[in-house]
Amino acid sequence: MNHEHFLVPHDKKISLKDYDPKFTGRFKEKGEAKEKLAKDICELVKLQDVLYAHDVYGLLLIFQAMDAAGKDGTIKHVMSGVNPQGCLVHSFKAPSTEELDHDYLWRCMKALPEKGRIGIFNRSYYEEVLVVRVHKELLQKQKLPPNGKKDDLWEQRFDEINQFEKYLVKNGIIVIKFFLNVSKDEQKKRFLKRINLPEKNWKFSIADAKERAHWKEYMRAYEDLFNNTSTKHAPWYIIPADNKWFTHAAVADILVKKLRDLNLEYPNVSDEHKQELLRVKELLENE
Ligand code: ATP
Ligand code: MG
Repeated sequence: MNHEHFLVPHDKKISLKDYDPKFTGRFKEKGEAKEKLAKDICELVKLQDVLYAHDVYGLLLIFQAMDAAGKDGTIKHVMSGVNPQGCLVHSFKAPSTEELDHDYLWRCMKALPEKGRIGIFNRSYYEEVLVVRVHKELLQKQKLPPNGKKDDLWEQRFDEINQFEKYLVKNGIIVIKFFLNVSKDEQKKRFLKRINLPEKNWKFSIADAKERAHWKEYMRAYEDLFNNTSTKHAPWYIIPADNKWFTHAAVADILVKKLRDLNLEYPNVSDEHKQELLRVKELLENE
């Protein structure tokens, strides 16, 4: 799979219309992608074990998308098999009163992964330049200090987020950001399925359907966000999301490559420790 296809370049402006939600690359059908995913999951399990033992780097995966793009399913499939002790998922909803009493990064900082772990943000601080930008009235609840011109707020936030992510990466937390790019048509199909199938009814919220009316504004906000926060240190990947099987395979493929590139190894055991192991071995065998 060619990642360059999905990567948002850090030095060029992109246009979302150039990213096809239906793209499935070399995979002609579901089965092929599932085979590749199964292989990558096996590899991911091994790589995560080394990440955990090595205990120097953490991995932060950020997932953003419109509703029904498949964030939950992608997290479930790609992380299946990974040791639950080494992995933590955090979903960010509309902020609570306590959260609104803090700066907007506070709740995210508390949820950052430890070294050796994989942390997953299901939505994130990027909502601050998405839903909050589309529904500006939300800003009133945030009790912000006067900041000069209001129009500068989004740029200010992009800048803060870039600095925050740079800090994380310099301190061993690798940041990878995924946008699951679903089309408006496919979202409609998935919403209808949620309404038509009783076992999917719980997943449907009327509020989600209302947000469809703001689709264009969301896409504009996303485009601006990609053009301002896909950096060398913390890149964005725009993953085609009209075919769930492709989304899962593409995300797993990127994760495996990123972890492989770290070239991590199990920690070295000192000669002294090795001697000690041999002594204990002898004791056990002579019990
Ligand atoms: P699912 O619907 O699959 O369970 P979800 O991520 O859509 O998952 P919801 O509880 O439906 O979860 O939605 C969370 C809502 O919280 C979204 O509409 C999102 O825009 C909103 N939200 C998240 N962060 C913020 C924020 N900082 N300010 C305002 N709203 C936010
Ligand atoms: Mg929802």
